[in-house]
This record gives sequence, C-alpha cells and structure tokens, in this order.
Amino acid sequence: MSGLYIHIPFCKQACSYCDFYFVTRQQHKQDFVDELLREIHHKKDTRFTKDPVRTIYFGGGTPSLLSPKQVESILDAIRTVFDLELEEITLEMNPDDVTKDYLSGLKSSGINRASMGVQTFDPDLLDFMHRAHTSEEALACLEILEASAFKVFTTDLIYGNPGQTLSSLEKDIDTLLQFNPPHISAYSLTVEPQTRLGKQVKLGRILPPEDDTVSDHFDLVVDKLETAGIQQYEVSNYAKPGSEAVHNSNYWNHVNYLGLGPGAHSFWWDENKLSAKRWSNEANLKSYLSQGWERPFEPEHLNLSALAEERLMLGLRTKKGVSKKELKSRYDFEFNSGQHLCLQKLEEEGKAKTGEQIQLTKEGLKIADTILLDLVTM
Ligand code: SF4
Repeated sequence: MSGLYIHIPFCKQACSYCDFYFVTRQQHKQDFVDELLREIHHKKDTRFTKDPVRTIYFGGGTPSLLSPKQVESILDAIRTVFDLELEEITLEMNPDDVTKDYLSGLKSSGINRASMGVQTFDPDLLDFMHRAHTSEEALACLEILEASAFKVFTTDLIYGNPGQTLSSLEKDIDTLLQFNPPHISAYSLTVEPQTRLGKQVKLGRILPPEDDTVSDHFDLVVDKLETAGIQQYEVSNYAKPGSEAVHNSNYWNHVNYLGLGPGAHSFWWDENKLSAKRWSNEANLKSYLSQGWERPFEPEHLNLSALAEERLMLGLRTKKGVSKKELKSRYDFEFNSGQHLCLQKLEEEGKAKTGEQIQLTKEGLKIADTILLDLVTM
C-alpha cells in the first residue's frame, strides 16, 4: 500500500509563522493543474504504480483555492494511472474559501475528509498570525461543515502564541467542541527563522511565551479534549476512537508515499527492503511549470540504521509507541546499553512504559522532543 501527497502551492496571503512552500500570485492556477496532470501521467507504469494507493492528501499552500472541477480533474488523472484501494482522500481548506456549494462539489469529486485550518477564533490572534480569514468566517465554515456530507473532518488549532492566555485557549477549544469534530490537530506555535514571525522574534519585537506557559497550554488541550472523548494519539493529533488520520499515520509507519507538485517530498523503500530513499521536487512554481518535476533533487539514501532511528523517533511520538519486535524484524535494531538505562530511567520517572511495546506516557509526550534526542544520541 502507498500514499499520494499533492502539493497545491497557492495562498491568498502569507501567514506570519508559515514556512511551507507557497506563492501568493494566483494567475498560474490552471497552468499548475495542467502541469500536475502531466506529472501524474508521467508516473504511469513505473514502480510507483505497483502498490495500490490507500490515501491521497491534498496539502499546501491552500488546496481550497482550487475549484471542485480542478480537484476532480486531478483525481481522474490519478484514477487512470494508479491502482487504487482508497480509504481516505483529504483536502486542506481555509475557512474563507468554504461555502455549502464548494463542499458539495468537493464531495462529488471524491474527497472524503475535510481538513479545516481554523487555528484560533480570537480576532487579535488571527491578526497576529496574519490569517486571511476572520473569526466569523471560521464559525460560519464550521457550521456549514457540520451540516455537510463530510462526516470525517479535522480542524487545526495553534496554541502557545505570544500573549495567548489559558482562558483564551480554553474558549477556542470550547468553541471548536460545539461542532463535534471527530479529529483535531493542535500544534504549539513554532518560530521558524525565515518567517515574518521569526524575523520579528530575532529583532526582539515579539517575545515567544515561556516553556512553562506552553506546557500549561499543552495540558489544557490534552485534558479538555480527553474529557470530550477526543484522545491524543500523537503529540499533536487527537481523535475520537476510529477517526485517527490514516495518511499521517502512514508517514510515522514508513509506508511508501509519492509527493507530486512543487516542493513535494517522497519516501520509497528500495526493492530489497534494506534501505529507502527520500527526495523532493524543487520548491519553485516557475521551474515546476517548465517540467521541473522531471528534475527532482538528488535522493537521500537511508540505510536500515537511519530508518530505525527515524521509526523510533516517529513511533514514540505516538501514543501506541513502537514495539521492540518490529524494530528488530523490520530494521534489525536493538537498543544499546545506554539506551536501556535511559528507558529504565524514563520508566522510573513515569515518562515511559518500557515492556515489549515502548510508549511515552502523557508526561513523556509533553517533552517528547527532548526525550527522543537523548535516546537516539546514547
Ligand atoms: S494558508 Fe497555510 S500554507 Fe498558506 S501561508 Fe497560511 S499557513 Fe502557510
């Protein structure tokens, strides 16, 4: 089984914290779709079409800047090139693009999971994030979504914003819960150096919140969602039982995926299953439109030991964790003595469970990045 990731590189405006690849000019949308169709058709009868495709993910950028007709043409091309055993077809959308007709058009095109970029309902924070939508639009789109044929949907929230109080975050979560979402992704704001936010932080114009404040935000998110029956299954992902995202779970499980579009990344196991490759298209629309997809960057070669480390890092960020048996059979990996001691200490401190299945507890997941760094550098 494999997954497809389609990168749609258009946005209305640049959010202050975002370091994904996007352009704010809209005039080449149809040219882009035409080029993407060429890239898809080019994959016909290659090794990438041997595995049946289980998930398709339209990410960006802002995929909801495409019309349902454009989305349909992309899915039609995929249907003619790939063998499909589809479970999940997700499209990311922004609240200001969503209408009742738009959602029903997407549903008819084959999309079965909507991912809504709400981030917050607080007008001041939306302004700080430089989002294109207003708080009213976020509420209106969730109403439309709840009443639509999309029974599977997810929404994004960002916490740990400068100046964000616990009560403002609590209000965001309560508002979101009114719409009964089966899945929520909640991210702590990350300051990336190349973004507008990163530059403002560097100049001292914005002060990111203290670690303790972010930690309180995290606890609030986990506790409130858990009380609502939406359980954390990965550091940043929460779902009602059975509504966990399949596509993202595949990334953490090293399932093959092919990225299409400018800047899209791919991961594919070599035939011998003893190594894999990761590569990407150039993140440049102009170059993509002149068949840049035929000239992807040189792939990164990953041997079993690099893959084991990655699987450990990704697996331990999930509630399910990772099994020693899987690490041994799939990656020929065993913990060294330093790592055994580290795991033992984590268990004593209540941050991990370390039987056959290694799992971080709620306390451990909160500081997962630090724990994982310690563990893999032992
Ligand atoms: S809409 Fe999404 S991809 Fe576009 S700038 Fe904002 S966060 Fe980035």
